[in-house]
Amino acid sequence: MSKAESHLNKARQEIDQVDGEILAQMGRLLGRRMEVARAVGALKESAGGELLDPEREKALLKTWAKHAAQSGISQQLAMRVLREILVHSRRTQERVLLGENNTKDRRTLRVAYWGKLESAGDLACAKLFDTRCSGGADRVGFVTLAATVEAVRSGKTDYALVPVENSLTGSSGEIEHYLIDSDLAIVDEEVWESTQDNGAGRFLEVWDTSPARVPDVTRFLLLGPKHEPPGPGVPAKTSLLLTLDHQQGALARCLAAFAKYEVNLTRIESRPQTETPWQYRFFIDVEGVPTEDPLRLALEDVRAQCNLLRVLGTYPARTREARHLEHGATFTPALPEASSSKNGTKKVPAQAEQKRKPMIVRAAGVEFGGDRFVLIAGPCAVESRQQILHAAEMVKSRGASMLRGGAFKPRSSPYSFQGLGADGLKLLQEAGHAHGLPTVTEVLRTEDVPLIARSADVLQVGARNMQNFSLLRALGSIDRPILLKRGLSATVKELLLAAEYIIAGGNQRVILCERGIRTFETATRSTLDLGAVAVLKTRTHLPVIVDPSHAAGHRHLVLPLALAAAAVGADGLIVEAHPNPEEALCDKEQALHAEDLDELGAKLLPILKSQGRVL
Ligand code: PEP
Ligand code: MN
Repeated sequence: MSKAESHLNKARQEIDQVDGEILAQMGRLLGRRMEVARAVGALKESAGGELLDPEREKALLKTWAKHAAQSGISQQLAMRVLREILVHSRRTQERVLLGENNTKDRRTLRVAYWGKLESAGDLACAKLFDTRCSGGADRVGFVTLAATVEAVRSGKTDYALVPVENSLTGSSGEIEHYLIDSDLAIVDEEVWESTQDNGAGRFLEVWDTSPARVPDVTRFLLLGPKHEPPGPGVPAKTSLLLTLDHQQGALARCLAAFAKYEVNLTRIESRPQTETPWQYRFFIDVEGVPTEDPLRLALEDVRAQCNLLRVLGTYPARTREARHLEHGATFTPALPEASSSKNGTKKVPAQAEQKRKPMIVRAAGVEFGGDRFVLIAGPCAVESRQQILHAAEMVKSRGASMLRGGAFKPRSSPYSFQGLGADGLKLLQEAGHAHGLPTVTEVLRTEDVPLIARSADVLQVGARNMQNFSLLRALGSIDRPILLKRGLSATVKELLLAAEYIIAGGNQRVILCERGIRTFETATRSTLDLGAVAVLKTRTHLPVIVDPSHAAGHRHLVLPLALAAAAVGADGLIVEAHPNPEEALCDKEQALHAEDLDELGAKLLPILKSQGRVL
């Protein structure tokens, strides 16, 4: 061994010794600090105070900086250490506030991450769960992002931690892709800073402060099976998914709504929507909680501008606290709302029943609720290729702007024709394409939603399913307009609450349909409640159309009821028409002939004209 080598060895031994002392002291001091932090958390809770005290944190930073300068330590190094300590403290207190003993299930949580042992994902996961729950978590690495997400979706793990953006490479949009098609919620976020090469085990090099090194910060999202909004007093962030029509200024109007209520945006990403090229999809992160002002007010305005507004999750703002500590910026956390109670029953204002500007619902180019009265026509059921192609041609040439046709039919008797199912869907789509007509068809079961949403332009919820809440919930998260029919014995209020399920899930595009209700009267199949149409027009911003066919039950009664619907102010009609009604497999007594449609068009025109509307 050379002399130099032996000197080096000695120096290294000394370093090891000093490190040992640092660790011992740090263990003792940090342990004590965390104990005190918990006590402070408990005091804050009983005092009903805020978790974050920006003034106090600023004062701490100043003191540390001063001490660092006096003892000749790098100020930057001291600030980084303090930042980590404060973040850790705050989360420890958060746990006290949220009541860590609430978890009945005391088993160790399993968390999926994407990558190898000691990769950034693994380390970020360890950091987050160090403070999220006592006892940490079992971390399970997966080779692909898809497998990581699937782990939590299938229940194999309790959570999945996935990267969403990186300071050097930006955002790939891959995780957003998974969020769209699942009902996973974003329940937390974490940031992890590593060196550029990001090799396993080299993470300690963040302490190397050579100016050439570019910090590589990755932001992670924690996904879970259900929403876990943070408790009152915790500074929160909310992630939103929005879809907008390709029309001038739609995004600008949304952003203006956030600006108007002074809601901070921390991220906005746009993603192409390949299946519907005229629509844009945005992922927006904002500060605040959707049920509390000012975000609540801003979202009310934003809803009116977009087709779909889904809250992907509300979670403690981890990245904001880092920013705040770095720049010493002050902010006031949103005050918890008095209405949010601990036992989970919240008074949430309704979205469907609201006096606001009438909304135009766009469905593949057709506008409901504008100056143009919409006529939807077609057979009760798709029966054959020839029948639906013929029907499409017939209704198109007589003023219809959308084609109806049931593929999955709700029949009172199990022995009646039940529809052609998936084959019927394909035929309806073919006929619609052939004649330039968007299509509407009924969805009976939750499991059919994805299939039908891929081929039809509007999904109909039939009268018998108006209060099928799991179906309504499923329709709340898709990006397709919903035609919601009034139940046979549903009140106007119940119809609006059914619409609320869809809107609350995020889907803003709901078209209401009055189709007659069950009364003591038997002269018509159902009693068409035109009074309800007038009421709905004053109680909701949603468009309202009328189905005179199922109310009338007889061909000769459809026309007068249809005209009355236009006169009372409905936004459109959905009528049954068949190229050969005598041979219809379903509802043949009420199916209109081609000539009936001609007469309907001719008689509607003067009524619409008197109202300043067109067909
Ligand atoms: C239909 O439109 O074919 C239908 C079954 O309607 P409703 O649900 O209104 O009875
Ligand atoms: Mn029918």
